[in-house]
Amino acid sequence: MKKRVAVIGAGPSGLAQLRAFQSAAQQGQEIPEVVCFEKQANWGGLWNYSWRTGVDEHGEPAHGSMYRYLWSNGPKEGLEFADYSFEEHFGKQIASYPPRAVLFDYIEGRVLKANVRDWIRFSSVIRWVEHDPQAGDFIVTVHDLAADRVYRERFDHVIVASGHFSSPNVPEYPGFDTFNGRILHAHDFRDAREFAGKDVLVVGASYSAEDIGSQCWKYGARSITSCYRSAPMGFDWPANWEEKPALQRVEGRHAHFADGTSRAVDAIILCTGYRHVFPFLPDDLRLKTANRLATADLWKGVAYVHNPALFYLGMQDQWFTFNMFDAQAWYVRDIILGRIAVPADSQALMADVAEREAREEASDDTKYAIRYQADYVKELVAETDYPSFDIDGACEAFFEWKKHKAKGIMTFRDNRYRSVITGTMAPVHHTPWKEALDDSMASYLQN
Ligand SMILES: Cc1cc2nc3c(=O)[nH]c(=O)nc-3n(C[C@H](O)[C@H](O)[C@H](O)COP(=O)(O)OP(=O)(O)OC[C@H]3O[C@@H](n4cnc5c(N)ncnc54)[C@H](O)[C@@H]3O)c2cc1C
Repeated sequence: MKKRVAVIGAGPSGLAQLRAFQSAAQQGQEIPEVVCFEKQANWGGLWNYSWRTGVDEHGEPAHGSMYRYLWSNGPKEGLEFADYSFEEHFGKQIASYPPRAVLFDYIEGRVLKANVRDWIRFSSVIRWVEHDPQAGDFIVTVHDLAADRVYRERFDHVIVASGHFSSPNVPEYPGFDTFNGRILHAHDFRDAREFAGKDVLVVGASYSAEDIGSQCWKYGARSITSCYRSAPMGFDWPANWEEKPALQRVEGRHAHFADGTSRAVDAIILCTGYRHVFPFLPDDLRLKTANRLATADLWKGVAYVHNPALFYLGMQDQWFTFNMFDAQAWYVRDIILGRIAVPADSQALMADVAEREAREEASDDTKYAIRYQADYVKELVAETDYPSFDIDGACEAFFEWKKHKAKGIMTFRDNRYRSVITGTMAPVHHTPWKEALDDSMASYLQN
């Protein structure tokens, strides 16, 4: 009997897994039956934009955390698929910071070419996964939302690719319940125009705070205040953007900060991060990890040490994204195909995790972290037939990106980089990001 593999989620990670198996099949290798379950009606994960917040059309938690006018916040040269370049997809090289719709199109192009859409059961949410130690397989409970039918199937392997930027981490501050304005988490932010003319407070000092604040600024907010717990973002902000230390409480419309100052604001956007949440997994299968580069309990960052027939993709904090998911997907594929052996000894699996954690903790320098993840990608790529690419070159693009951000937080997206897949330099985009209010694909691809 053919092995059966369940993939949970058809975002970039899950789609990488389908492409990995399809590429083996293309080379004449016999592959297992692969079934991907996707709770939304389309693929693309976070890149599949939806205006919905709270719950989706079926009453399920809305997965989307992306918003209108989102442009890639890192250079596309750092995420390019090694087996499918931007030039192959668009027929020409394109500028370095594409808006969401352009990246969605690129992600979709590869899997359309691979012809794997039929492997996916859409509008199908995984309700529960359990391990059957007698049979040595997994029983997966699926809710077909379109037909409103719940059923169970058995699989030899389960690959969790459900993402970890969808379940918001929502803190509470004194006075929130009587605030005279709108409070929302970044997960529910959809359109910066809502905040035009408003005084906005963004709570947090990481990517969401930086980008959502920048979006609100670009689309006409009157002022941005951002506040941090440990360290300010420290960019050279526009005149109407001020950084404050930690928020302490809210009274009426006034936000009070740790330095004793206060500010009247119309809206508070909580850019306070996300949690790894897997409501469909029991205690013995559920990954419990912080958002870090060396995830807890995953051998080689993918195989669950307490049951290595179960895999997780893309659970790390991410510098590298699409090409790292590919490296992981090819690696998991090769374990399942029997080309790579997982050590039978659980001590060896744990030792691998401990070594990765210690190496991550050796430095909190950003360059170190980027190189650390690059080394991880290299390590996985070296053991599979995923096309090798200039991973050090991708690191260089990230280092340049960091410098460009330090030079101008509202201008860094006007820079360009060289593709590490095709060697071609990206063109300068026709309009500076600050002035580019139309984020459609047609507008972006204009010469
Ligand atoms: C606001 C924001 C901006 C970002 N910007 C960038 C960027 O500019 N560049 C970049 O490289 N990365 C960016 N990222 C990082 C992003 O995490 C990755 O690019 C990528 O989307 C992760 O892919 P994934 O497949 O692991 O997860 P996701 O994209 O989250 O996909 C997971 C999929 O699993 C499905 N799913 C979840 N639960 C179930 C279930 N129980 N049953 C069935 N299906 C389920 C979901 O519907 C979804 O389709 C950004 C993230 C956020 C939140």
